[in-house]
Amino acid sequence: MSNEIMEYQMFIDGQWTPGESGEMMDVINPATREIVARVPRGTKGDVDKALHSARSTFEAGIWANQSIDERVEVLGNAAMAVIANKDRLAYLESLTSGATIRRTGFVDVMSVAGSLAMSAVILKQMPSIEHAICPPWVAPMHSYAVREPIGVCAGITPWNFPMILAAYKFAPALAMGNSIVMKPASITPVTTLELAKILFDAGLPPGVFNVVTGPGSSMGNYLVSHPEVDKIGFTGSTEVGRQIAHLAADGIKRVTLELGGKSPLIVLDDADIEMASSMTLLAFLTHSGQVCESGTRLLIPRKMQDQLVDAIIDKIKKLNIGNQMDLATDLGPIASQEQLNTIMNYVQIGKDAGAQIAYGGNRLSGGIYDNGFFFEPTVFINCNNKMQHVREEIFGPVQCVLPYDDLDEAIAIANDSPYGLGGGVCSTNTTRAQQVAKRMRTGSVWINTWHILRPDVPFGGYKESGYGRENCYHALMAYSEVKHVCQDLTPDAKNSFIYTFLGFNR
Ligand code: NAD
Repeated sequence: MSNEIMEYQMFIDGQWTPGESGEMMDVINPATREIVARVPRGTKGDVDKALHSARSTFEAGIWANQSIDERVEVLGNAAMAVIANKDRLAYLESLTSGATIRRTGFVDVMSVAGSLAMSAVILKQMPSIEHAICPPWVAPMHSYAVREPIGVCAGITPWNFPMILAAYKFAPALAMGNSIVMKPASITPVTTLELAKILFDAGLPPGVFNVVTGPGSSMGNYLVSHPEVDKIGFTGSTEVGRQIAHLAADGIKRVTLELGGKSPLIVLDDADIEMASSMTLLAFLTHSGQVCESGTRLLIPRKMQDQLVDAIIDKIKKLNIGNQMDLATDLGPIASQEQLNTIMNYVQIGKDAGAQIAYGGNRLSGGIYDNGFFFEPTVFINCNNKMQHVREEIFGPVQCVLPYDDLDEAIAIANDSPYGLGGGVCSTNTTRAQQVAKRMRTGSVWINTWHILRPDVPFGGYKESGYGRENCYHALMAYSEVKHVCQDLTPDAKNSFIYTFLGFNR
């Protein structure tokens, strides 16, 4: 693909639409700091325009009133279109987010297609109507429940997995017949815009899927407070999620929040050291640690700490850290200067608290590292769970080792967190591992693996990691309302028992 700077417009009402202000924002490649794209710096007027389009299509029933089979067909076409465009989508996702092309070309693109396809399959299989179990009830009353779209949804996404996290929102929202306005993160808006065009070309009517670009603080805030928005799907920090929950409360808007985490990985004393070291790398180094459910608190039996940390360091030394566009690269850059600063700041906080660095701790420099935002995988040992860098989300390649003496203590430490997104257990004993998984207060628990999120299983957090679930039928429920319809079937309805009993038909 060419090295020209790509110019985008917003996608509103099925058209590429310039921003009202005419101002543009730069999108950079975090490995080189080169500008690769420009997108409009949106304003409140642009949000109004997108919401107007979403509202009009919804009220007109252009999408909402299509039959389930028609919606399933469009979602299926869209899934195939995503796969047909996989090279371009993967290239742009990696270029702008720093994710390795080895991962985006396979996992990310297939996940987006999977969200669309799975939403279609579940929609088709879900009962479209539920009849009351006991139709006659006191009198001949027929009751049934149907699912209907909520209306206009706002989907707000972070910069770490722009495409996947957008699809977690728009796939179920579209399946249930809603219209949606997406607002991607300012630094990674490009693939959400590309997806808008792909879905439109796959047969989604104009105005059903819109994308606005711009800063979260002004535009995002305005979007979630807007009276035209009925449902908010947000993925991002707990801090912003809390603000959104407050803003949504005024309008009693429906909200799904996927927020931060500080996930514990408990290594049991029967674990295999090779397995545990690989699992640790998978848990904390995927996407250079910029994953909400990364395993960044490593609980190790005290007597195993030295041996396991040595094995972890051996494996870290074998990683290729560099240009994310190279298929041989294992770890790419950090997504932005701001995120790099956050990581460096937390590493200093950890050192000041007295935790020892067993490996890493520095920004990488020299050669290609000088151009971009690269940070060494970092392992702190002898941490305790009260330290600030152990409790708070760093969102970088930093592991905090917490030695423990007995399993009850390990589980108590794992659960002693304001977050509850992910957790993991490493063990050779399935029964023990599942018993520990049951005691972890988190929305996902992985045994001898990590990061496995599938379109057919729920994903979400306990505690301050959010509420609601994305993926599978839980997501379709979260993007729909339930309506109960009740009909009195008494032949002469004005003389039905309810009127007679309450005295309203004399
Ligand atoms: P962020 O909260 O700063 O921003 C997320 C999105 O919200 C962006 O699009 C941003 O522009 C927008 N935004 C910012 N302020 C807003 C406001 N006041 N009103 C409305 N929208 C606003 O998060 P980030 O830095 O982009 O992403 C990192 C965070 O996301 C981490 O905390 C991470 O744990 C979390 N995350 C969670 C999950 C999950 O599924 N639980 C997944 C990925 C990332």
